[in-house]
Amino acid sequence: MMAATPPTVGDITAFLEQWAPPGLAASWDNSGLQVGRAGRAVTCAVIALDCTPQVVAEAKERGAELVLTHHPLLFKPPRTLTDGHPVSAVALALAEAGVALYSIHTNLDAAPGGVSFALARALGLRDVAFLAPLETRPLRKLVVYVPESHADAVRRAMGAAGAGRIGAYDDCAFELRGHGWFTPRPEASPYLGASGGPTERVAEARIEAEVTSWNLSRVLAAVRDAHPYEEIAYDVIPVEQPFRNAGYGAVGTLPDPEPLRHFLERVADALHAPGLRHVGDASRTVARVAVCGGSGTEFLGAAISARADAFVTADVTYHRWFDALGPAGEPRIALIDAGHYETEAVAETLLADALRSRFPEVEWRVASHPTNPVSLFVRR
Ligand SMILES: [Zn+2]
Repeated sequence: MMAATPPTVGDITAFLEQWAPPGLAASWDNSGLQVGRAGRAVTCAVIALDCTPQVVAEAKERGAELVLTHHPLLFKPPRTLTDGHPVSAVALALAEAGVALYSIHTNLDAAPGGVSFALARALGLRDVAFLAPLETRPLRKLVVYVPESHADAVRRAMGAAGAGRIGAYDDCAFELRGHGWFTPRPEASPYLGASGGPTERVAEARIEAEVTSWNLSRVLAAVRDAHPYEEIAYDVIPVEQPFRNAGYGAVGTLPDPEPLRHFLERVADALHAPGLRHVGDASRTVARVAVCGGSGTEFLGAAISARADAFVTADVTYHRWFDALGPAGEPRIALIDAGHYETEAVAETLLADALRSRFPEVEWRVASHPTNPVSLFVRR
């Protein structure tokens, strides 16, 4: 029996980008294929939060062809590819070993079921929803005019290419019937009527569906394939509503409310955090909890508006702590800094679980050592 052909780097990244489209990434981000070739076959891959020299060594030792990280290795373009700089040295080591590096960063933060949802799950939260909508407005309304004979084919092609996904519904579309007019000039090759012929009046459908900006070209290509006309009349209209299938952070509820002092123990245990910096009243009850993996302090206001009793995130700077206090200096919310690595390490198992079920033929290994460079000294 022949073994199944292993997937390529491109097959794996296409699967990940269906879930977390690059269009969801922040403008300053550099997610995507960082090193290597999309056509490389993958039999083994190492998943880590960061691409460190230890992760590259582990990939080489295991014979892995791919390293998959949450944090991009390359942010600023390196001026040289030598071992003279820590970042370029890692990129060079990957290239020399023929190991590809793919990073899925803020697009995985913003994706449904992304990093903050995994963090919420790790803390045992229920009824989890996005905490804050995307700041960008990626939705477009695509309106296509098509002869009635081809209306169903075009509508189905739009849905199959990803148009009309609203919440838990696919293929959402609206259709109106009417008439279209056109006069083919002599150089035209019309599907209906004659070149240089009289004005045609055709029974047409107007089909509309929502499309994300990053999926628009794919949907338009599907429309062109299914539509009979030489020239297709269509409109792309910006939509002001926030995109509900993506966002930042997550908010949910504990199965049973508990005092903050117990909740802090829950957080430390679940995230293997050696310590937690926090603002809050230890006896206050925590029922509703907001989370944002990594540097999420910009969503403190959203957590307060969502009436969360606690907000778990990382990288809280000194002056930011004061924003968690009310006018009399009382905590308005329990703000908890559990550490950047600790709040995002869930990304490793999140990716491993998704990839193991989609590509069971690949050996998916979570990095055997934490990539966190920080340790905490606690005075006895
Ligand atoms: Zn991060």
